[in-house]
Amino acid sequence: MQVATGKSVLNGIAIGKIKVYKAPKVEIDASIISDTEKELERFENARQKAIEQQNALYEKALLDAGEDSAMVFMVHAEMLDDEDLIDATREIITKQKHSAEYATKVAFDNQAKVFASMDDEYMKNRDADIYDIQQAILNVLFGISNDAMQGTEPAILVAKDLTPSETVKLDKSLLLGIITKEGSLNSHTAILARSMGIPALVQCAEASEDWDGKEGIIDGYNHCAYVEPTPDLHQTLKKKQDEDLKKKALLEELKGKDNTTIDGRTIKVYANIGGPSDIGLVQQNDAGGVGLFRSEFVYLNSKDYPTEEEQFQSYRLAVETLAPKQVIIRTCDIGADKQVDYMDMKKEENPALGVRAIRICLTRKEFFKTQLRALLRASAYGNLGIMFPMIISARELRECKEILEECRQELLQKNVSIGEFSIGVMIETPAAVMIADELAAECDFFSIGTNDLTQYTLAIDRQNAGLDPFLDTHHPAILREIKMTIDAGHRHNTWVGICGELGADPSLTETFVRMGVDELSVNPVSILPLRKIIRGLDLRNEPKDASQ
Ligand code: PEP
Ligand code: MG
Repeated sequence: MQVATGKSVLNGIAIGKIKVYKAPKVEIDASIISDTEKELERFENARQKAIEQQNALYEKALLDAGEDSAMVFMVHAEMLDDEDLIDATREIITKQKHSAEYATKVAFDNQAKVFASMDDEYMKNRDADIYDIQQAILNVLFGISNDAMQGTEPAILVAKDLTPSETVKLDKSLLLGIITKEGSLNSHTAILARSMGIPALVQCAEASEDWDGKEGIIDGYNHCAYVEPTPDLHQTLKKKQDEDLKKKALLEELKGKDNTTIDGRTIKVYANIGGPSDIGLVQQNDAGGVGLFRSEFVYLNSKDYPTEEEQFQSYRLAVETLAPKQVIIRTCDIGADKQVDYMDMKKEENPALGVRAIRICLTRKEFFKTQLRALLRASAYGNLGIMFPMIISARELRECKEILEECRQELLQKNVSIGEFSIGVMIETPAAVMIADELAAECDFFSIGTNDLTQYTLAIDRQNAGLDPFLDTHHPAILREIKMTIDAGHRHNTWVGICGELGADPSLTETFVRMGVDELSVNPVSILPLRKIIRGLDLRNEPKDASQ
């Protein structure tokens, strides 16, 4: 038996035959060609075909993994339309007289190197996207299809690395698990595997082509893989896998039941979504509502400023489809890691501490008003919450509410119908925690954004994976801030939820419920497990963790 370690993308067990996935080897000919027109045409046809493929992958990923994960293919399709990249490739064909394949290889490699050399962690990782779309064009040019790579029997796939396109193309019914030699936990490929519920191990340096055809096990709980496991180990992990499956079935049974602890406290369990196309996931996982609709995806998905009407249609779809469930839409949180070209934002030294979220909205009032009018119009169709991100002062909140009121009056004058709605504030900075009493007095609910609250409290850039050794997501400072926020909210009858990733951490559910949290808004796949934990809690018992 061989034991190989890596980083686990999902807690789960996969057992089965190993299939080594080898990317097709292609020889790129560097010789000089005479018919440049023909090569230009071949490149253009391949590029168009690659765009079509990325659009089709977007649709597939939307169904398999949800909108957040599918977005990468939309970005790829846009990258394939990038004028600079197209021009650079065409120049190599016309000036240097090389084939479409050679030109694609050189031009895209160059662009990938430019990204890889950037300081910004997000931009640095964009090189993987360039290689992905380069591969898509080369596959068309070489007439390669990856369809046969997976084999015909269910298997654990082992590869050097997988691009997001390769991952989403995989037939889920034949995919037991994934092991890659490279790749990071935050790569789009890992995110896709997680969203599809496939056990996967990345950065498994020992992964080898020799494993092909051998029996393998991925133990996602222990971040390792076993090749040719001993019968004893096989039996133990098979038992664990069966338990997992039983748990999954049991969770399905929870659908429609209250999230009430044994001693009678009810907690709202809501979903975080990226847009209307995630509504299906909210329904499938029986979420009580939407605690965070990240409206910036409406902007990120658009080539230009989305109009009031376009925004209204998106918000109305979510609010109306899910009514009477509450849908909390966060106003635009652009900036920092989420940049939009058409907004023409100034380059900043420290974008995470810069003009982002509400700061953009308050400096570009007409831009903000367009969104607020769309939200107010949507309020007539269901149960809407409007939530403001990155608030650091009561003055900012008041200003938001004044602009909202200005929009309301404008719409009323035009006889546009507006429904009831509630107003919430994201608690994402230590400043907001410290003034939570003042903020609570002026809004209906709080939602604690632990992703940013952790970043700003611990001074740890959330984009920088290199800081992982310093990151303690359960840091007492964060837990105390959450408790302070809940207490402040309750002093003013303001309900308090958590919508950052920490809200889905099952080891903290009891802690949060004991602190008095009213709502947990999480990734749709975490909803059922969380509800099971809540229903099993009895707050009359001693806390599991004595520090609570
Ligand atoms: C957060 O900061 O915790 C949050 C939910 O917002 P986002 O992750 O979109 O910044
Ligand atoms: Mg945030």
